[in-house]
Amino acid sequence: MAFAIEAANSRTKAADLGRPSKMLRTREELDACDVTSESWQEALQRRYKTHQDMKGILNHVEEVDMSIYDQFDMRVTPYLAQLMDRDDPNCPIRKQYMPFQGELNIQPYEVADSLAEDHDMQEGSTVVHRYPNRVLFLVTTNCGTYCRYCTRKRFVSHGVRAVNKQQLERGFRYLESHREIDDCLVSGGDPLLLNDRQLEDILSQIRARAPHIKFLRIGSRLPVQLPTRITPELCAIIERYDVQMVNVHVNHPKELTPLFAERIKMLRKTGTMIGNQSVLLKGVNDDITTLRDLCMGLISCGIRPYYCYSCDVAEGNHAYQLSLDRILSLYRGLRGFISGPAVPTFVVDGTGGLGKMPIIPDYVRELANGEIWATNFEGKVHRMTNLEKTIADQ
Ligand SMILES: *Cc1c(COP(=O)(O)O)cnc(C)c1O
Ligand code: SF4
Repeated sequence: MAFAIEAANSRTKAADLGRPSKMLRTREELDACDVTSESWQEALQRRYKTHQDMKGILNHVEEVDMSIYDQFDMRVTPYLAQLMDRDDPNCPIRKQYMPFQGELNIQPYEVADSLAEDHDMQEGSTVVHRYPNRVLFLVTTNCGTYCRYCTRKRFVSHGVRAVNKQQLERGFRYLESHREIDDCLVSGGDPLLLNDRQLEDILSQIRARAPHIKFLRIGSRLPVQLPTRITPELCAIIERYDVQMVNVHVNHPKELTPLFAERIKMLRKTGTMIGNQSVLLKGVNDDITTLRDLCMGLISCGIRPYYCYSCDVAEGNHAYQLSLDRILSLYRGLRGFISGPAVPTFVVDGTGGLGKMPIIPDYVRELANGEIWATNFEGKVHRMTNLEKTIADQ
């Protein structure tokens, strides 16, 4: 099984190096490309690998130092390139994926492993065990397209690094021997970048060796970056191994394309829950209209907005950061204004491995003197005397 993964990794690398001619060099060629007419693997071979590659596709491409790719690779699927605005460098898709010089200006407070995941990796595996009952299992270091603000930059990209067979085996063994774990989140990198056989190998190992796991979930951004990755074959695997939740990562309503919606519908037929996690990013989705459209757009696709993250303090991420005040006001703009199930939990993942903590305005407060004051979604402040009296009566 692990052999298959390594072999496929080296095949991907060979394909990456050997076939640059497959790249669609002009906007006309790109726009004429029907992404549904080829396999997702073929589409991956057409990915753009540097900003230089995109100069025939986009205008006003920022000239960045090639050394940026020593830190963090660039890959852009043709599908995402089609979504990128040709002229506007502030296009929300471009802002997430196009490298910018400021990334290299790493701040003293920025850290490579800001969530201290390496510290919580268990027994030579890539299983991060931080919470009592659940683990994060990182099964690959590659992604379909690299998000410039990625929290796991230290771990992902750079094709040479991979999760090897020993690490995977140690991961399975860890799950097998820790019966307190009842929830396993398979992530990476992007687990759906593995081919169906590799993915099936991993899921079957987990299911066979850790029957105490009640909740198996996959985190992937590939449905957003290349919706054709969702195939009937993939859906059959999700169903066969009873993956109860797939979490995608949509940040902007522009990513909710008809093709995305269609493939999500296919995935929903497996019966798996589909959730979304977004990252709040300055210049991408930090305004209330965008977030309302995003959350309602997600729920209309049948996706439950799950988390909305404050951007992690990873190296080079400062340009995307929002203030806590701004985050709170964005939350206030959702709660009460859009459907309840469309409102995600806002969280910050604490630096140094504190874990996720909700960022929620206090709508209802009890003072030391027993008074209870409430602020409703419209900002009306009201003292809840009836509730005070009920409590005082207890
Ligand atoms: C986010 C995360 C999980 C899953 O957390 P939930 O709140 O249950 O979604 C598990 N382990 C680690 C290390 C995580 O960062
Ligand atoms: S898909 Fe996830 S892991 Fe991959 S680069 Fe984006 S944020 Fe990082």
